[in-house]
Amino acid sequence: MYYPFSWSKNIVQLTIFVLLVIVLGGMFDDLVLAVALATIAILGFNFYQLYKLNQWVWHSKKLSPPKVYGAWEYIYEGIYQLQRRQRGKRKELSELVKRFRKGAEALPDAVIILDNDATIIWCNRLARLELGIKWPDDLGMRIDNLLRHPEFVEYFQTADYTYPIEVPSPANPRKTNEYRIMPYGDDNLLLISRDVTRVSQLEDMRRDFVANVSHEMRTPLTVINGYLEMLPMTSLDDDPLAHKAIYEMSTQTKRMQNLIEDLLVLSRIESSSERIYEHIVNMPSMFAQIAMEARQLNTDKQHQIEFHIDPELHVYGVEGELRSACSNLIFNAVHYTPDGGKIDVYWSKNGHDAVFKVVDNGDGIDDKHLLRLTERFYRVDKARSRKTGGSGLGLSIVKHVLNHHNSLLEIRSIVGQGSEFSFRLGYELIPTETSKTDYAK
Ligand code: ADP
Repeated sequence: MYYPFSWSKNIVQLTIFVLLVIVLGGMFDDLVLAVALATIAILGFNFYQLYKLNQWVWHSKKLSPPKVYGAWEYIYEGIYQLQRRQRGKRKELSELVKRFRKGAEALPDAVIILDNDATIIWCNRLARLELGIKWPDDLGMRIDNLLRHPEFVEYFQTADYTYPIEVPSPANPRKTNEYRIMPYGDDNLLLISRDVTRVSQLEDMRRDFVANVSHEMRTPLTVINGYLEMLPMTSLDDDPLAHKAIYEMSTQTKRMQNLIEDLLVLSRIESSSERIYEHIVNMPSMFAQIAMEARQLNTDKQHQIEFHIDPELHVYGVEGELRSACSNLIFNAVHYTPDGGKIDVYWSKNGHDAVFKVVDNGDGIDDKHLLRLTERFYRVDKARSRKTGGSGLGLSIVKHVLNHHNSLLEIRSIVGQGSEFSFRLGYELIPTETSKTDYAK
């Protein structure tokens, strides 16, 4: 029970003690001795209390204080209350931690908490089962020593966690895990691993399906087109219906062939595992060929097309893919710019990077379409695209090629003024002089 400390009570007790000492000193006629004895008694008492306090604080297992008297009672009581309050708080905190842990255990994903040295502080049950983390043996181990897939190690060490990565599960290589890392607090990291086997199987199935169907349709279409081309159109001149039918059939067959070709290119690029740093692409000579094709395409439209190409600027990459991306952008400008327009193609160095840019003075594209332009089959004006023979896959192919080359398509357009399609290849894709000469050998 806590009694508030009372100064008056303590002063009264002290006064009585002093008076007693004076009276005893007077009775025995030796005041000095009485004061000396009283001082020794007080010192002894306080020393004993200090000893008891030390024993209780450091060695006793009991929470409640021993029986004491005088001012010491309040000190013991104070320490006791402080301890009780802290014990209550600790209990509340440990309850909270327990509840959080239970929540993290119930998550359907594997969770690992890492400190700023990349060592494991805590992991949930799924992390133990799915990622093979041994608990508590692996406590304090570096995560990249335990999850050793090269792609994960590279992802972890580059410390760019903007996007998650997918790699085979360490516990079962037939499963695919998606790893996502989130920095928080003072350089701590939260690693979440999710089983995405089904999603990635569905994605593979979709890709294979499109590739297989396109492939299977290519042969029948070539046969139909072959026969249509062999038909002697002149003998049908007196039958306008048959003439029109054959003309329409061959136009539509060609459109379908273009579509199939684009679908095949897209699925090839999507599943491409070709390494971009293995070959140097001679971009200037590639642009010379594209320029010839663009001029052929331009015979009806009579645009003024100018190529501004840095003759020395080569890059690492996949030649077929880069050709496909650049030609798609240039041919689009030819198709969608009204007759007699102006088209400029730039390939030059900007700082340490290489920049490609196609600028036209066509009709431009409304802002509301810009974000969706790279979606498959998205067209601003369906009827017009059909007339140009466009499949609606061109910009989608460009997006995938650029993604493979760690770049992004940028589109700027003003309605009535024209459009600018550009991309930038990072300095790491630009070969140094020595690598160029090595490659030439
Ligand atoms: P398509 O095969 O129909 O050309 P793309 O994916 O290449 O498909 O282009 C998507 C749409 O973007 C086109 O239908 C067209 O409306 C628009 N577009 C592309 N390039 C240009 C351009 N230079 N100027 C105006 N519109 C463009």
